[in-house]
Amino acid sequence: MLSTYFDHLVAAVREDNTIYECRHCGVSIDDDDVTTCPACGSTEVAQYELE
Ligand SMILES: [Zn+2]
Repeated sequence: MLSTYFDHLVAAVREDNTIYECRHCGVSIDDDDVTTCPACGSTEVAQYELE
């Protein structure tokens, strides 16, 4: 099913060891390619790459 495939794809993306955190309010953002904080709208989003 297409939806199952998409769910798998999302899971694979989340396997990527990249974490986004808003520098303004400190919220962790569970998404990829984030440029704007969904909580406060700040564009000060830090990106951390975990080993
Ligand atoms: Zn924020």
